Amino acid sequence: MEHLFNHIKEPIVCARCIEDFGQGHSDAASLRGYMRIDVGFTETGLQIWCQRHEANICVIDFEGAQPTADFRSLIKKSSSSDKA
Ligand SMILES: [Zn+2]
Repeated sequence: MEHLFNHIKEPIVCARCIEDFGQGHSDAASLRGYMRIDVGFTETGLQIWCQRHEANICVIDFEGAQPTADFRSLIKKSSSSDKA
C-alpha cells in the first residue's frame, strides 16, 4: 500500500501558470493552489491539460503498452481517532 502515498518528486506544471504566479498575477498562496488541471486518458495514453490556459501541459504516449494503474486511495486517520 506504500505506493498509494504521495511520492511525486518532480511535479508536472503549466509553464504559463508558473509565469502568472511568478509575476504575482494570482492571490493563491502557492502555485499548487493556483493551477487547475484536468488529467485523463486519451486514445494513446494520458494527457494533462491546463484549465486556466486551455492548453496542453503534457501528453504521455503509452506506445501500445498497458501500464498498471491503481485507482485506490488511502485516507489518513486523524490523530484523535489514532488514540481511540
Ligand atoms: Zn496554465
